[in-house]
Amino acid sequence: MRDPGKESDPIGSLLALVSRGDVKMAGAWLDGAGRSLRGELVARAGALGATFPEDWAVLEGRRLLKLALARTQGAQIRTNPIARDESFSCVHCGRDAPKGGRRPRDHCPHCLHSLHVDIVPGDRAADCAGLLIPLRLVASPKGAMIQYRCARCGAERRNRVLDDLAVPDDPAALRGLAR
Ligand SMILES: [Zn+2]
Ligand SMILES: [Zn+2]
Repeated sequence: MRDPGKESDPIGSLLALVSRGDVKMAGAWLDGAGRSLRGELVARAGALGATFPEDWAVLEGRRLLKLALARTQGAQIRTNPIARDESFSCVHCGRDAPKGGRRPRDHCPHCLHSLHVDIVPGDRAADCAGLLIPLRLVASPKGAMIQYRCARCGAERRNRVLDDLAVPDDPAALRGLAR
């Protein structure tokens, strides 16, 4: 297991771990995590409708996770999200982003911007909806990814480069990120 504390979005990674059923592991990790990370978990789960006792800071990691998931697991954090493929008008450049087809369209093919709408990719469970600014290209086992930072909440996200669709990511825009 990768250490969620070393990820750019530790809480997102933690929730992804939980959504795969590794609650025990995630709880153990949370026991060793600092107070600020626990606070972030409480804040993010709270925004999704979870409630915590006043002494949440001293709770066992597993208990904290259970509370975080009690209200959110079924409704918001889908354990096996179906990635949605939807067309949209880009809020950044205003151009049309058609459906991906072979793969779900999750960012604008023209300017590469995206929206912070997912916790687990494709689930549309994030309440933020801030603009995801493309920062750079990163290599991953799944292929090239675009690293994003949310302009509203600062969360970092990655989406796969979509260069093999009918309307592929603009090569010039990708080159701009690769520099
Ligand atoms: Zn755009
Ligand atoms: Zn955000």
